[in-house]
Amino acid sequence: MKERLARDGGSPVWTGGWPEWPQTGPATEKTLLDTLHSGRWAISGNWTGRQPRESELAEAFAEFTGARWCVPVDHGSSALFIALHTSGVKPGDEVIVPGLTWVACASVVARAGATPVLVDIDPRTLCLDPDAVAAAITPSTTAILAVHLYSAMADMDRLQALADRHGLALIEDAAQAYGATWRGRGAGSLGIAGAFSAQQGKALTAGEGGLFVTSDPQVRERAEMMRGDGRRYGPGPHMPGRPDLEEVDQVQGWNMHLSEFQSALLLDGLSRLGEQNRRRAAAAQTLDKLLAEEGDLEPIEPYPGNDTRAYYHYAIRLREGAFAGRSAAVVSEALSQELGYWIHPPYRPLDSHPLYDPRRLPGVAESNRATALDPTRFELPVAHRESARTILLHHPMLLGSQRQLEAVVEAFAKVRRCADDLPQEDDG
Ligand SMILES: *Cc1c(COP(=O)(O)O)cnc(C)c1O
Repeated sequence: MKERLARDGGSPVWTGGWPEWPQTGPATEKTLLDTLHSGRWAISGNWTGRQPRESELAEAFAEFTGARWCVPVDHGSSALFIALHTSGVKPGDEVIVPGLTWVACASVVARAGATPVLVDIDPRTLCLDPDAVAAAITPSTTAILAVHLYSAMADMDRLQALADRHGLALIEDAAQAYGATWRGRGAGSLGIAGAFSAQQGKALTAGEGGLFVTSDPQVRERAEMMRGDGRRYGPGPHMPGRPDLEEVDQVQGWNMHLSEFQSALLLDGLSRLGEQNRRRAAAAQTLDKLLAEEGDLEPIEPYPGNDTRAYYHYAIRLREGAFAGRSAAVVSEALSQELGYWIHPPYRPLDSHPLYDPRRLPGVAESNRATALDPTRFELPVAHRESARTILLHHPMLLGSQRQLEAVVEAFAKVRRCADDLPQEDDG
């Protein structure tokens, strides 16, 4: 009898479920309850005789990345916003942003009053193409936002050289790269500022949250005040009812505080992150090897400087003409049905992403910024080509058992054998 795909009513390759995300540990409930009864739910609360979780987290996370300081914030987007402000990006400046990334990377630039200049990617890593970056630099450029995407770091050597030559700030978006290293240095700690997100899907999470890191003392000071409406931890006197923050008349900020519950969750998650990262990397290595042996599939090729990889998504590419010439969207949908877990193609490139058009910001359409902010003015042929052939597995799958990994390989093999049965275009 002819083999049938799960999407056509055949039996799926795997029905045994997948690891949950987020995960908790033996101390998670206790740390949340301790915080609940501690009398301090936010750093703007009063001193309770013990170090706030938030500043404990700042110390632990700085050490994790190798940066000198960390400033916890409410979202990854806030960390990016603070990175732009503290590194001197002003309204009207141009900031180079990869054309393939989460929309926040570009929206935050537009929201800061600057112009996101969308630049194409290197097909080997799906991160910024340094040659394309060089070609996009103008006298108005003041920063490069290097995003470490899915499982690879951007080329930090070449981007830093370009930043140095042109006097630009190099900012790292390491939301997807917890624990990755470049020549032994932690992702996020290489540029002037690094931004991490602790949103639910990320490898370290409190549901929502963000972490800003830097080794520059002035950037750190400004970042700390910016996220607290211009306040920072104060010297006291401590007394019930009196906020533990002092007012400083130096920066115009707003409230981007992370709560004590979120900080407690991140400290707890951080204790498991190293071990989880090692398991994900081992699983990804197995998949790279087994899927490449299947033929028709091409793993990501990290730069040699990216000596430790971290996996937010495991990415693999369909070779030209493979799987009967079907797109990553069609193949992903079939794989999802075989495995009972959502497998999907990358972000839509930002020149045509439904969630990205900064001309919708208040006042922009009628202003002289409208042309500069038009996302369709950028050409991103590589981002389009690569996203049409790339398939992503979210990181919890990499925490699965050997049998689950084998099921992934078998699902690819089955969909490939039955590729002629797939629809020509994704109808979902
Ligand atoms: C998740 C993410 C962000 C945004 O973080 P939030 O916490 O959702 O604001 C920014 N950049 C990248 C690359 C991300 O993956």
